[in-house]
Amino acid sequence: MKIELIKGDITSITADAIVNAANTSLLGGGGVDGAIHKKGGKAILEECIAIRNRQGGCATGQAVITTAGLLPAKFVIHTVGPVWNGGHKKENELLRSCYLNSLKLAYDHQLKTIAFPGISTGIYHFPKEKAAEIALQAVQDFENIAAFDKIIFVCFDDENYEIYQKLSSPLNPVL
Ligand code: ADP
Repeated sequence: MKIELIKGDITSITADAIVNAANTSLLGGGGVDGAIHKKGGKAILEECIAIRNRQGGCATGQAVITTAGLLPAKFVIHTVGPVWNGGHKKENELLRSCYLNSLKLAYDHQLKTIAFPGISTGIYHFPKEKAAEIALQAVQDFENIAAFDKIIFVCFDDENYEIYQKLSSPLNPVL
């Protein structure tokens, strides 16, 4: 298993799955969520609505999977990150759950490559360095990580890219 760091737009990534930083409604929003729905087309929203009708959206820390519609990826895994609230509302644990539950869903679907954005580090204001530490730790801790070929972290902004570069470089030889 290899960790790769990419600076850019997750909607352009060819992977078995890309992860969306969605919200509990699953009906789309701004940021990466808006970009995925805009470029992926209506098939993604239709499946999100079907899931919503079935189970009432997606709770914070949980994940659901849909088609990737017109995107180059095969699937979109929608996970709902926590809104940063000063760190007193289990934000760290919930963010870790986002990564672990997304990996579990990918593993259950026999997916080999998965690309993550910096969940919660945009509109939800999670501190970026802490979020990157949690992301990298969750990947290392996932019990079936060896089943994956590649985990891609896609950084949209320079700040996240620099943080991930700093934190992930010592890990790569180990993983
Ligand atoms: P959240 O509500 O979980 O904070 P956002 O979409 O606002 O979600 O931001 C999550 C992260 O995704 C931020 O680091 C933001 O810079 C990044 N981002 C926004 N658009 C894209 C994109 N097209 N590809 C990859 N990352 C993106």
